[in-house]
Amino acid sequence: MVLRTPSKEKKTQSFKSGKQRRAEIVARRRKGNPAVEWIDPLLNKDNWPKGAVAANLEALGRNNTYGLLPNYYVDKPFKCRDCGIEEVWRATQQKWYYEVAKGRIEATAARCKSCRRKERERKEKARAASLPGLLAKRMRPQS
Ligand SMILES: [Zn+2]
Repeated sequence: MVLRTPSKEKKTQSFKSGKQRRAEIVARRRKGNPAVEWIDPLLNKDNWPKGAVAANLEALGRNNTYGLLPNYYVDKPFKCRDCGIEEVWRATQQKWYYEVAKGRIEATAARCKSCRRKERERKEKARAASLPGLLAKRMRPQS
């Protein structure tokens, strides 16, 4: 399955300024590796793509699923749910998430790094705001 194909650059312009070139490099880095074609490791078990990281099935064994488990992880491009920027969920990050943090196998990356941090701060703030309220409610004598 191909989620994203690298955009074809027009080659009509032969000279670019250093500033233009730098902007292009930054944009490319931000997108991750455009050469990465994401191939679903659940469906494609035998033909490992380049850069695949082997999965530890024993560590995955405790994952709460009766479905398929991946034999490997591969860099997975995704679009941030909040800001829409394209990022790549690295194979090594997936391995850590599923095998060490014991994330559910159905779960996948949804937010870019900065939106993830913002979301975490928002949740912490909401929790800090709601906790005293909840406590006060509990302490109130029942009528
Ligand atoms: Zn984002």
